[in-house]
Amino acid sequence: MTVMLGVDLDGRDVLLVGGGAVAAKRLRRFLAEGARARIVAPVLHGEMARLVEDHGLVWRSRRFRGADLAGAWLVHAATGDPRVDREVAARCERKRILCVNASDGVHGSARLTAQAEVGDVTVAVTSTVGADPRRSVAVRDAIVDLVGEGRLPLRRRRAARSGRVDLVGGGPGPADLMTVRARRLLSEADVIVTDRLGPSAEIVRGLDPDVEVIDVGKHPGRHPVPQEEINRIIVARATEGRRVVRLKGGDPFVFGRGGEEMQACLAAGIPVDVTPGISSAIAVPQSAGIPVTHRGTAAAFHVVNGQGTLGDGTLAALADATVTTVVLMGVAGLDRLVAAALARGVPAGRPMAFVESGHTPQQRTTRTTLGHAVADARAISLRNPAVIVIGEVASARLLLPADDTIGAVLA
Ligand code: SAH
Repeated sequence: MTVMLGVDLDGRDVLLVGGGAVAAKRLRRFLAEGARARIVAPVLHGEMARLVEDHGLVWRSRRFRGADLAGAWLVHAATGDPRVDREVAARCERKRILCVNASDGVHGSARLTAQAEVGDVTVAVTSTVGADPRRSVAVRDAIVDLVGEGRLPLRRRRAARSGRVDLVGGGPGPADLMTVRARRLLSEADVIVTDRLGPSAEIVRGLDPDVEVIDVGKHPGRHPVPQEEINRIIVARATEGRRVVRLKGGDPFVFGRGGEEMQACLAAGIPVDVTPGISSAIAVPQSAGIPVTHRGTAAAFHVVNGQGTLGDGTLAALADATVTTVVLMGVAGLDRLVAAALARGVPAGRPMAFVESGHTPQQRTTRTTLGHAVADARAISLRNPAVIVIGEVASARLLLPADDTIGAVLA
C-alpha cells in the first residue's frame, strides 16, 4: 500500500545519486519545488551538467558512499545500474530516509507521481503495481483535461482564506463559444454574477445548487443594477473568501465595463484576473457571413458604442470606404448615426447590415444601405441585441462568386 503525501521540499536537502537524463529530469522537478539538491555521480551528462552549473549545486564527482546520506530528507537513486540503485535504497532504509528508486519497474520506499497543477489543485497519479510512468502520465493528462474543461467538481467545500475575482468573457451566447478556461473557472466558482447577454442561462442550469448566482443584468420592467453596486457585490463576496466569477457577454474589456470592475478589485486588494471572450463585435457579423476585414475590401475595422457621441474617429471611419464600422448598442441611436454619416458625405449606397441576436436560434440578418437603413430598421422593428455593420463587407454579394462565375456554373 502507498500513502500519497504532499511533501513540501522547500529548503530541504535532497540527494540525487546518478548524473544521467533521468536524474536531470527529476532534479528539475525538485529544484522547481525549492529543494536544496546535491548530486553524487562520477560523471554528469549534458542536461545534468548544465543544471548543476546554472544552479551552483554541490556535486561530488565519485561513486556513492553511505556517508552521502547524512542530512538528506529524500534520496533519488538513478545511476542506471539497478544493483547500485538497490544498494542506495537499502542503505536509506536502514537510516529511515525515504528513497525513490528509479530503476526500471522497481519502487523504493517513495515514488514520484505523474503530477500537474491545474487551477488551484495538484493532480498526482501513481501506480499501485510496478512502476508504469507512461500510464500514470496518460491518466494524469486525462484528469487535467477534464479539470481544464470544468467537468470535475472542483468547487471548494471550505472557504478559502482569501477570495478572488475572475472577470470572464462568455462570448456571444452559446456555451460552446466560451473558452475552456472560462468553463473551468465557472466550475470552481462559489458566486457567479451574470448579465442578460452571454451564455448565462445555459451555464447556470448545470451548476451545483449551492452556487450563488446573482443576476445583475437589465430585464424588462426592472432597472439594471448600477455599476457601483456590481463592483461592491464582487468585492464584498471575494472579501468573504469566496471565488467570484463575473460572467460577461462577449469580451469583458469590450464595452463590458470590465476595466472598472478590475479597478474596484485592485483598489480593494482583491486578486483579479481577466479571461477573454469572443466579442460580438467580430463574432456577430461573422455569424451573418460578414468578415470585418476582407482582403482588398476592408483593411481595418472600427468598433464603436452607438449610444455615445460620435467622435471624429468614428466619422472618419465611416467616411473611409476601406474601413468597416461595427456599432454595438446602436439600435436607439441609429437615426443619429445615419444622419451624421450622410452629413459627412458618406455615399447613401454604402452597404449596411443589422444582425440581431447573433449566434442564437433567433438570429436575423437584414441587409440594407446607409440611405435605406432608417426606414428598413423601422420596417423590421430592429431590436436589441443587435450589431450594426457599415461598410463594403456588409454587401450581401461579398463572399458569393461574381455573377459571371455563377453563370458559368449554371451553364
Ligand atoms: N462585451 C460585449 C459587448 C457588450 S455591449 C462583447 O464583447 O460582445 C452589448 C452589445 O453587444 C449589444 O447592445 C449588442 O450590440 C452586442 N451584442 C452582444 N451579444 C450580441 C448578440 N448575440 N447578437 C447581437 N448583438 C450582440
